[in-house]
Amino acid sequence: MYYSKKTVEPVVEETAIWKCSNESCVCWMRENFAFEETPICPICRSIMEKNNKMLPTLYNNNNSQKEVK
Ligand SMILES: [Zn+2]
Repeated sequence: MYYSKKTVEPVVEETAIWKCSNESCVCWMRENFAFEETPICPICRSIMEKNNKMLPTLYNNNNSQKEVK
């Protein structure tokens, strides 16, 4: 019997994110995806705070040369 069971385990790593400072709001975004230096929550318009979150690694092929500020 032959099986190729591919267990694709997502690689999880600590990722810098922006998290909404409003506790009742669950909005957050990856830091890499934020366009502003200090983004405003698109949902409740609160300021967002830097945070870290364990997230699956994203392989972003479109943007191989990421600009890191
Ligand atoms: Zn918010």
